Parts: sequence; C-alpha cells; structure tokens
Amino acid sequence: MDSISSRRRFLKRSLHVAGAAGIAAQANISQALARAAHADAGTAAGDLPVVNIGANTLSIGPSLPSLEAIARTAPKSGGYGGGVSGEFLEELSGQLSVPADHISVHPGSGTPLGLAVATFTSPQRALVTADPTYEQAWRTAPKAGAKVIKIAQRKDYSHDVQAMCAADPGAGLLYICSPNNPTGAITSRRDIEYAARNKPPGCVLVVDEAYIHFSDTAVSAVDLVTSADDVIVLRTFSKLYGMAGLRLGYAVGSPENLKKMNFQGGGSVAMTTLAAGIASLRDPDLAPARRGSTRRMRNQTVAWLEAQGHACSTSESNCFLVDVKRPGREFQEAMATHGVMIGRSWPGFENQPRVSVGTEAEMKRFREAFSAVVAGRLGPLPVPTRPRMALQQALIDPEQAMFAC
Ligand code: PLP
Repeated sequence: MDSISSRRRFLKRSLHVAGAAGIAAQANISQALARAAHADAGTAAGDLPVVNIGANTLSIGPSLPSLEAIARTAPKSGGYGGGVSGEFLEELSGQLSVPADHISVHPGSGTPLGLAVATFTSPQRALVTADPTYEQAWRTAPKAGAKVIKIAQRKDYSHDVQAMCAADPGAGLLYICSPNNPTGAITSRRDIEYAARNKPPGCVLVVDEAYIHFSDTAVSAVDLVTSADDVIVLRTFSKLYGMAGLRLGYAVGSPENLKKMNFQGGGSVAMTTLAAGIASLRDPDLAPARRGSTRRMRNQTVAWLEAQGHACSTSESNCFLVDVKRPGREFQEAMATHGVMIGRSWPGFENQPRVSVGTEAEMKRFREAFSAVVAGRLGPLPVPTRPRMALQQALIDPEQAMFAC
C-alpha cells in the first residue's frame, strides 16, 4: 500500500473512532499525538510536559475531519488551488448569508486587522480602541502616523461605546473586540449597533470576532456589513477551530472597503488550510462541542479560583483575567517553573494575568501549579529569563512575540 492510502486508512480509522465516541475521543487522540510529539522533542525537566495556556489557542488542534481534508488535499498541492479557494468562499458566503464579494480571505485575522488600521487611520484620522483589548491595532496605528485614543472599559468589562463614538469627531477607525481579549467579556449587540450608527462620519467600525465561537450569548455583527455603512467584521480559525498554525481568517465588509484594504493583496492561504477550513465549517457538531467543553472548563476553573478569593473577569471566551494579588509577570514566571505557561498582564491590570482555558488535564496542572505558587513553592524548571521567555513565546505564538516583550 502506498503512503497516501495508508495515511487515508489511518485517518479514516481515526474518524471512525471519533464518530463512535465523539469529541472526547478526538481530544484523546489529539492529546496522545501531542504526547508522542512531546516525547520526541524531550523537555528541559525530564518528564514534565509543558502546558501552554498562555496564547488563547487550543492544544487539541484541528478537528479530525479537518486533518483528513488536509491529507486528501496535500497531494494536489502542485497546483495553485483556485478550486478550493472558490469552494471555501462559497461555503462561507452561504453560511454568513453575505455575497462572496463581501468576503476577503487571509492567512489569519491579524492580517486584515493590520491592513484595515493601515488603510483607515492616518495623521488626520485617529484610532479609537477600548482599554484593555487586543493591542495589534494600537501598535499598528502609529506606523500610519495616527493617534491612538484608548477608552477605559466599563465596570462590567464591556466596551464604553458611547465614549468611544464621542472620543474624536475625526476618528478613522473604531475597534471593538467581542468577546474581548484579554477579558473574554461581551459587548452587546445593542452597543455594537450604537457604534455602527453613531461613529463619526467616514469612520470605519472594525468588529473583531476572533473568539465569538466560544460565546453562548454574543450576537455577530456580520449582517451590519450590508445594513450599515463602513462596518468590517473579522473572524479567524485560530481559536475554536484549533488552526492557529495553519493560518486562516477572513474579513467581511463592503467590496469597496475590502478593495481599499487589500490594494496590495491580503496574503494567500495554502489549499490544505482552506480544505481544513471547509471541513470545519461543514461539521455541525464541532463548534457546539468545543464551545461546551470550553465553557465547562472555564466555569470550573473560575469557580475554583474565586472560592479562594481570586477574582476573575466575566468571560464567555477561552480566556479570562485572574487577580493573583501580586505582579502578574512574577506569577507567570513562577508558574512556568512548574511547566505551566499562562498569559501576560496588560498595562493597568498588572496583577491580573490572562489565563487561557485548556483541556481537563491542562486545567488540573494549572490548579496544581497555581496552589504551589500561591504557597510560595517553585517547580523544577529554571525561572525563565525575559529574553528566553520571549523566545519561547515567539516560537509558540506571534501575538505573544509581538506584544509580550
Ligand atoms: N484578534 C484577536 C482578538 C486576537 O486575540 C488574535 C490573536 O490572538 C487575532 C485577532 C489574530 O489572530 P490570527 O491572525 O491568528 O487570526
């Protein structure tokens, strides 16, 4: 048997297992593969596998149907794959109920976010963002010569859209991230509609929905793209779909705005990645199953932390902030000595590092390490130095690489 058909047989068998036992089997298989990969790679601390719950990604990776689609598509990679692009766009357009010319596909959603900020802000047109939020936009705007106006979040962690709309009558771009990174909090559909109708004239509203698939209550803004002026919605397969390393995201907006943003192209996506994206989109059980397991692990972990007096942000995502009552950077380093990588802290929230929600086994390791650190006990790994930590994070996640150090 040639290697392609044996790989297909392996993936078919895996799919059978997943079909029979559902998402739990899928997680087990992915974890077993991850363990095998880990054993190959070895670790600095002998047998202590490193748990990465610092980058808002899912260690279980892509779904098995997506992996199978990659294996099926890879042998055809000698061509450019226009057919797969068309199929992806058609599937997305049908699912989102927007015409295909309102969608541009990119290697991740960070690419269209950067392009939108570079296009719609300028020395005359400021960026207005919440604080705290995902900072890519506020790092990019100064490169376009634009001022960055940061509006503090409300007490319930939502975006203060009234203050954002009133911040600067000449603003070029308003950035709303819902669920927000790092808090996991939702900004309501009513507030997003308010922003769409009351933003300054000619200002573009970018709604970043990178984490929307995890939320039980968030309502997408995709339909506003055709019913209001200058709204752009960004989505990614890097989070719930477990495809951060495969690089797939998209922007939904008016054809005119997408054309302005993508005037030099928006980056092309591998046909294997597109095939994995199609398989994820066509799997009706994938998002509900992952949303459910993330909700269960998040609620369990937050309840455990709060029972011990560590307040957490109200989250509907795969991350939350936790008050560790000391500098988050120190706490993050101490956790890393136990092989548990948690997220960083945001300016103004120095005692509240971000924790991503992982599997049951990963959150058990988190709780053990958290208790040890609170009790003042370090683990067997060396305390990571700043440059080393930045390097490790650069290897794990470009977001952390760009913004953590
Ligand atoms: N938007 C938000 C809110 C994020 O947190 C991230 C990554 O962490 C991105 C966009 C970019 O992700 P990607 O380029 O992998 O789609």
